Amino acid sequence: MSSIAQPRNTARRSLNARRLPLAQARTQLRRLDKLPLGRDFHDALATEGLWPLQPTSIDILQINVGKLCNQTCRHCHVDAGPDRTEVMSRHTAEECIAVLRRYPIPSVDITGGAPELNPSFRWLVEQCASLGRHVMNRCNLTILETAPHKDLPEFFARHRVELICSLPHYQQACTDTQRGDGVFEKSIRALRRLNELGYGKGTSGLRLVLVTNPVGAVLPAAQPCLEVEWKREMKRLYDISFDALYTITNMPISRYLEWLLESGNLEGYMRRLVESFNPQAADGLMCRNTISVGWDGRLFDCDFNQMLDIPVSGDAPQHIRDFDLAELEARMIQTNRHCFGCTAGTGSSCVGATTRSS
Ligand code: SF4
Ligand code: SF4
Repeated sequence: MSSIAQPRNTARRSLNARRLPLAQARTQLRRLDKLPLGRDFHDALATEGLWPLQPTSIDILQINVGKLCNQTCRHCHVDAGPDRTEVMSRHTAEECIAVLRRYPIPSVDITGGAPELNPSFRWLVEQCASLGRHVMNRCNLTILETAPHKDLPEFFARHRVELICSLPHYQQACTDTQRGDGVFEKSIRALRRLNELGYGKGTSGLRLVLVTNPVGAVLPAAQPCLEVEWKREMKRLYDISFDALYTITNMPISRYLEWLLESGNLEGYMRRLVESFNPQAADGLMCRNTISVGWDGRLFDCDFNQMLDIPVSGDAPQHIRDFDLAELEARMIQTNRHCFGCTAGTGSSCVGATTRSS
């Protein structure tokens, strides 16, 4: 099938709830491993003198508070959804805060699922903010339209939380195809409310970022060009403003991997990622300045490795309760073939492209 075919959001349940073999991380890794790609990620890094891959520092504690979500997006790398039950406990959230008290890690990046569905979410934000940390929340926007969470925009503004909000496209059809019918309209309503509170105005300090990922088996277009286009069109069509646009490459794992397999696009997509390997993008890899905490407190190099159940290297602390900054900064980052998703073209990370050109 053509690579421009678009994934319809027909999967209303997670891989996990459908009890598919692909729900298992090892099955996903095996599918990638079997592909005749010509080279592996560590070969690509080694050729450029970038192996072994190590952190520069740990500037961001990324906390994944669980897989529970109000949506079941077709491309989700977490396999999140309303049917997931994995949620970080208050005890583990307290262990994260204990680490922040012990170490001056400047930023906390809260993600999920829909992080706001975790019962300790507000407590976690308040604690991080009271410790003077920069708090980022990865928000799917529609959660702000649900009854118990309608006051969250004011809560976010009060605690100066940076909002990093996913919106695949500024056109309704593209967004709803990937995320579900009605998602676009709710997202626009939520963005208008955030603008009314001062988010996305560039002057208030309330930073609003939109995140777009391609619909289909293609790489994102250049982030600076897309940002100009998005800012113009979001203003013109919906009178919405925002501070920055991040472009993110779809990772060939979990539900996006399911779609790649079903549509016959897997090998072609992986080849595109490998052929587009950009050594400059390796400098900005998020695993080099971030450590990722799972809902159960386990430690990973990034959220993708977390979903593939690839923990930090065996000689580093494995759980948030054993966190040791120096030991974790000395670790070797664990990589596999999915990592080509971070180094293709202009690169891809939690803050979008990692370079300005490929
Ligand atoms: S992509 Fe985000 S909003 Fe969509 S199901 Fe996954 S976690 Fe939820
Ligand atoms: S997938 Fe994770 S470990 Fe691999 S390159 Fe990307 S950020 Fe680093």
